[in-house]
Amino acid sequence: MTLQLAGLDPAVDAPLFERLSAPEVLRRVVDAYAPDVALSCSFGGPGGLVLLDLLARQDLLDDVEVYFLDTGLLFDATHELRERLERRYGFETAAYVPEITVADQAARFGANLWERDPDACCALRKVGPNALALEGKRAWITGIRRDQSPRRAATSVIEWNQPLGLLKVAPLCGWTDADVWDYVDRRGVPYNRLHDAGYPSLGCNTVCTTRGASMETLRAGRWRGLAKTECGLHGSV
Ligand code: SF4
Repeated sequence: MTLQLAGLDPAVDAPLFERLSAPEVLRRVVDAYAPDVALSCSFGGPGGLVLLDLLARQDLLDDVEVYFLDTGLLFDATHELRERLERRYGFETAAYVPEITVADQAARFGANLWERDPDACCALRKVGPNALALEGKRAWITGIRRDQSPRRAATSVIEWNQPLGLLKVAPLCGWTDADVWDYVDRRGVPYNRLHDAGYPSLGCNTVCTTRGASMETLRAGRWRGLAKTECGLHGSV
């Protein structure tokens, strides 16, 4: 049970939140916004898993809606991990799906739209459903980090998201890849088995997700060969 407090103001509160630990950030955000707070979890990277574990350890999971974007194209391993985590922590993930099925998309726009126009495909299968998931919410918690890509290097712990009209919260934004994996190892948090097969970041099971190589940025395996590095949820580049 949490105490409902007034909302946070990034213009005033951001410097303080940059100094807080991730558990403290989560506690304060949930205190301020529950039940209008959501955690997006792709189950295709370790960050969301750390956040799930941090929330569970503070008995905050019941105050947050955990959701994922079921594009209809996810890896089986991603669904398996979600189900395993739901059993472990005793919660249910809300699934948000695109307005049209993959088959309908192929009929309307041609087969494999992701190969010809991945921005349009992501808009249909991710960005739209994400906006739906966050309708009525006042705070959105994500696992994105500054070290994942140059595009994410300027991420703040709390910031106002103008398009969605809510507070965007990235408690792990100052963590490194090593920090996240160290947490996962120490706490025994289940993770996507495909990470062990060379995929540092997992999205759809199409050409959009490939194995990574050493010396690459953490998201280099996504939309390989294209300038695109984001699906549009955290910016458009
Ligand atoms: S990641 Fe690829 S397949 Fe998935 S929604 Fe985006 S463009 Fe489509």
